[in-house]
Amino acid sequence: MNNAVINCERCQKSQELCVCAAIVPQNTKLQILILQHPQEPDHEIGSARLTQLALPKATLKVGLSWPNLAAALGKPAANSAQWAVLYLGSGVKGANPQDIKSLQFVSQKGTPADRPPQLEGIVVLDGSWSQAKTLWWRNAWLLKLRRAVLTPQHKSLYKELRKEPRRECLSTIEAVAEVLEQLGEKKEVSAHLKGLFSQLLDKRRQLIAASKHIKEEPEHEKTQF
Ligand SMILES: [Zn+2]
Repeated sequence: MNNAVINCERCQKSQELCVCAAIVPQNTKLQILILQHPQEPDHEIGSARLTQLALPKATLKVGLSWPNLAAALGKPAANSAQWAVLYLGSGVKGANPQDIKSLQFVSQKGTPADRPPQLEGIVVLDGSWSQAKTLWWRNAWLLKLRRAVLTPQHKSLYKELRKEPRRECLSTIEAVAEVLEQLGEKKEVSAHLKGLFSQLLDKRRQLIAASKHIKEEPEHEKTQF
């Protein structure tokens, strides 16, 4: 049997996992910049590319370092004062727990801060905890951005499918959905993002169930960037 997997050109997932037919591009005021570690194996249930396909204002860049926000974004005029980065750590220093918002902007010192004036977008790091940490330390300009600490309001839909601990245990598409909702984008946007992810996971579960049924694990080729 030929194990070659023919991937969808749009989402780069196998046909069995492709949810492209369900994507309805969602307009948002804010931009999203997703920085993806080159070793993030996005071929199964990774969600960065799905996020990009569903959000016309989202940019996905695969790499380890960029000299500044404008270079990462590919927009020379980008002003880093109008961007925030979704922060890896949890906890906001010097505030009562009840005063902390589910999306709390903090200063570089971790103390509560205001939403940047004329916020244009949010940088999101995609990958495992250690991959995200690598991206964080390799891009000094990220350290200078206002930080947005997300305390997820919903549990991830990943459940049993993702063994590796993720940042805040949320997939990239779920984190983006929550961030956009917290920042005042239409609820339909986050509902659509979560709906797409839920469809992807359903397909993944069906595939696992089918492979158990025939007692043969499907071969997945490693994606090399
Ligand atoms: Zn597809």
